[in-house]
Amino acid sequence: MNYKKVFCLLFFFLTFNVFPQNIIKPYEVATWQGFKSGAITFTFDDNTPNQISIVLPMFNEYGYKMTFFPVINWGPNWAALQAAAQNGHEVGSHTVSHPGLNTLSTDQQTAEYKNSQDAINAKVTAQKCLTIAYPNCVTGNVALLKQYFIAGRICSGTIIPKNPSDFMNLSSFVCGSQSSIQRTSDFTAKFDAAASSNGWLVLLIHAIDSESGYSPTSSAQLKGALDYIKTNDNKFWVSTFGNVARYIKERNSISISESVGLNNNITVKVTDTLDNSIYNVPLTIRRPIPDGWTAYELKQNGSALSSQLIESGGVKYITFDVVPDAGDIILSKSSATDIKQEKIGSVPSGFSLNQNYPNPFNPSTTISYSIKETGFVSLKVFDTLGKEVATLVEQIKQPGIYFSKFSIQNSEIASGVYFYTLRAGNYFETKKMMLVK
Ligand SMILES: [Zn+2]
Repeated sequence: MNYKKVFCLLFFFLTFNVFPQNIIKPYEVATWQGFKSGAITFTFDDNTPNQISIVLPMFNEYGYKMTFFPVINWGPNWAALQAAAQNGHEVGSHTVSHPGLNTLSTDQQTAEYKNSQDAINAKVTAQKCLTIAYPNCVTGNVALLKQYFIAGRICSGTIIPKNPSDFMNLSSFVCGSQSSIQRTSDFTAKFDAAASSNGWLVLLIHAIDSESGYSPTSSAQLKGALDYIKTNDNKFWVSTFGNVARYIKERNSISISESVGLNNNITVKVTDTLDNSIYNVPLTIRRPIPDGWTAYELKQNGSALSSQLIESGGVKYITFDVVPDAGDIILSKSSATDIKQEKIGSVPSGFSLNQNYPNPFNPSTTISYSIKETGFVSLKVFDTLGKEVATLVEQIKQPGIYFSKFSIQNSEIASGVYFYTLRAGNYFETKKMMLVK
């Protein structure tokens, strides 16, 4: 064996055997949810009042999720944090007393980690406390930290690569008056850098506007940054620190296999080796529509699984989000008389929002709608008090008919009437549905 051969083999091992992935062709897993180019996380330390009163409503308006890192001894606004977590925002640990972790004994560190995590889990029951932001960005004992958290944030001012080498030292950029990220254009330059490197940008924000606190960030400049993301929604996946960390770990331990059964139905298995009680963030995967198929149905555990047929490089891909280990997915060819095929194949005449089916429902129902022109679409569910219960769609859509599944599994919402609202361009429509438990 010559050196060239050895080198090639070595290269093969280094390149392809880094992660315990086992993905059969022709499946692909998105680097970032939705096949976006980059991931962006906004983290907010020390739970200042304006983060809740000014920034949280702003993020809710855009549908983006924030990560809060409150200090237990500094009197966090627990009620607001619990409400935020119910709406998909994250609450992580910023320790009990904000000490320099590198100055503490092992026992003292353990108390800071465990007690802060316990306090958050007791007060913010809508989620689990999984991540930590180190006070003053100084890391503690990594082996100890790993017993409590899946990811830790420092602030060394670099964009995290798509496969970070150390989840307990994930870098962020400090924002605001004490930093070089102050204006909308400063933010958007970083967003673009993350997208062009397929990386993960984590921003660290403290005080907002004129309130007291470290390195205030202007909410108006921040709003401009969110506008930019919304305008370029096809490039950026905005999610919480914990969600992005989980997505990467799931992506790197996923197995996808398929088998073809009766009537050419395809059974797809998507599994991973991680703890399902923690690692339940949906991964986006795609597969070319099988040869000779013009329409399809995708079901998981007997219910329709939301998907899109997206053309890329001349190939039509069935693209869908799926939680690993959540059950087999059945992909089947639609018959000519099938409603779904008729709808998917044709270009609709306008915008519409259809009645959900089934209705009343429990635990899941499907909402279909049609889009006339390419643009930003949101589909949200509200309770009778106008409180947002779920965001089903929030992205740029091409013209077509879409199906979106709403499931109440893993949520605590009560029986009763709910409203779902579609917004697309100037089109706005709301319909009523009934949950019967
Ligand atoms: Zn702090």
